[in-house]
Amino acid sequence: MTSDYYTVLGVGRDASEADIKRAYRGLARKYHPDVATDKAGAETHFKEINEAYEVLSDPGKRQQYDRYGKVASGAGPAGAGGFGGFAEQGFTDIFDMFFGGRQAGPQRQAGPQRGADLRYDLQITLEDAFRGAEREISFNHLFSCETCSGSGARPGTLLQRCDRCGGSGAMRSVRQTPLGQFVTQTTCSKCDGEGTIIPTPCETCRGRGRIERTRTLTVKIPAGVDDGSRIRVSGNGEGGTRGGPAGDLYVYLNVAPHQRLRRDGNDLYTDVPIAFTQAALGGTIEIETLDGAAPVTIAAGTQSGTTFRVRGKGMPTVRGSSRGDVLATVHVVVPQKLSRKERELLEEFSRIGGDHIEDRTFFDRVKDAFAP
Ligand SMILES: [Zn+2]
Ligand SMILES: [Zn+2]
Repeated sequence: MTSDYYTVLGVGRDASEADIKRAYRGLARKYHPDVATDKAGAETHFKEINEAYEVLSDPGKRQQYDRYGKVASGAGPAGAGGFGGFAEQGFTDIFDMFFGGRQAGPQRQAGPQRGADLRYDLQITLEDAFRGAEREISFNHLFSCETCSGSGARPGTLLQRCDRCGGSGAMRSVRQTPLGQFVTQTTCSKCDGEGTIIPTPCETCRGRGRIERTRTLTVKIPAGVDDGSRIRVSGNGEGGTRGGPAGDLYVYLNVAPHQRLRRDGNDLYTDVPIAFTQAALGGTIEIETLDGAAPVTIAAGTQSGTTFRVRGKGMPTVRGSSRGDVLATVHVVVPQKLSRKERELLEEFSRIGGDHIEDRTFFDRVKDAFAP
């Protein structure tokens, strides 16, 4: 390795620290033996890049290099030098790049943590969804311990820094590989990554900081909710740890199917049986809605399958004043039993031409009935 460090990194002699870091990251990403296609070539190049970066990223070593040039590998004022001594800083950077940073251990521990969110599935009726409702629900959750304020330590006692990991919550292990050393971090097993241990646990929660408790609360269901709607009850999830905020409770609504009304958006659909005489003579029929029966006038000669729209009698919108419609489809019902008198009258009706069906076929007329 004889190349000039600046040339290796492709930066000028006046490059800033940031420039050097940027150039190094770009090159390391390209030539890292794990990702490069030409493994052997990349390995040599990768070593050069790291050596150059090790020196140029350290202001002291860089100054020395600028003044005296390269110092023989493995000794001298340039420090560890050479690939074998792979500077820790260089490795941290690689770790950042290829393993998504070091967040696993140290940054996570010690501080307050927010509790988990909880999900509660609640079944309601279409009427509940229409009018809005209140429901009392009970569930178990982990509640932040009040005795120790969630710390897990008996009041008046203190947490101790974990002696195994020195409070970082993570254990570093260095693995030697032909490419140099690899640093891996694992969660400290003594403190579970917390960085602290509890010498005198709180008696209420036995050092866990949280207690399981049954919670009962009333959920307000706004009018207009649909199947699958979600209501957030903030702060009613699991308690946080070490004074962290509680999570939220999400109530998922499941609207049970109604016997006669089907919902589509804010509209409701229903089927209405009518007598064939009503269809022929016309008149007023009653259509079921969620706030009472609505009278609808049907014309003489109404065909089976005709849909009537009752405006503004459907579901309300959750936020807003508009309402959907009710769409009622009539179905002509043929009597299954006739009294003698009824039979006589219908026979008479038939004799005088009531059986006559116009040229248009029945199916055309049904199609007309559905036409807008
Ligand atoms: Zn530890
Ligand atoms: Zn406690």
